[in-house]
Amino acid sequence: MDAVFELLVLLAAIYAVTVAIYFILGFGISWMNDRNPERRIQKTRRGEIRKAAEIRQSMASILVTCVSVAIGLFAQYKGWTMTAWDFSWWTAVPLFILCMILFDAWFYFAHRLLHTKFFYKYHALHHRSVAPTAWSNDSIGLVDTAMSQGYYAVVLFVVPFPPVIVLAHRLFDQINGTFGHAGFEYFASKTARYPSPMLCTTYHDQHHAQFRYNYANFFSFWDRIMGTISPVYDSKVEALEATLPPLSLKVPPRAPVSPSHGDTA
Ligand SMILES: [Zn+2]
Ligand SMILES: [Zn+2]
Repeated sequence: MDAVFELLVLLAAIYAVTVAIYFILGFGISWMNDRNPERRIQKTRRGEIRKAAEIRQSMASILVTCVSVAIGLFAQYKGWTMTAWDFSWWTAVPLFILCMILFDAWFYFAHRLLHTKFFYKYHALHHRSVAPTAWSNDSIGLVDTAMSQGYYAVVLFVVPFPPVIVLAHRLFDQINGTFGHAGFEYFASKTARYPSPMLCTTYHDQHHAQFRYNYANFFSFWDRIMGTISPVYDSKVEALEATLPPLSLKVPPRAPVSPSHGDTA
């Protein structure tokens, strides 16, 4: 009974922090987007109208993600997994990158599976967001979330990451994923296109808009070798680099409202 209580306390703490970060990022990125309307990726769509439904779904989906993290960390704490490596600053960066590489492979193949005929019914909810926003990152079905985020429940049985690395990775993925769904581009640069393995918001935005490309999470590596990268991804990033205006922190003035017919009659 004590073990169940400990697990629930751990889960509650991880859930509370994740929900807080979800709202901080959602409001923060929306604030930024209002000041940079020219950075909108899909100019003719307004994903913001789905905000309320996406927030509701996210509260449930984040719980599934946090259950996965809590199971992994609790199993490690109880000694049911391999004994964790001691944390040291010398190994923190390589271990963090290894955690990213393993998660990216997990995510890519789980995501490909979710696009097959049998599993797509679990993934369709996430694709209701055709033009994603900062609120869309966790608007995911519960089976879908268990498949794509199940990594955390499993990885510590295979690689003995220190718990702080797993938590830092989860935090980073929450931030990275929310920017990946922002709908506005802030990261277009040479480092986000070929031959760099890194990517920018346009990458996952194209997954939502074009549907059959760009399945990966952190890196373009798997999509490039599996032939699933959008054929217009690199050229689009290059074009954005050349055309995006400088970052603005002021709300642009509204366009003047044209007089109605009644006024001029
Ligand atoms: Zn998908
Ligand atoms: Zn998405």
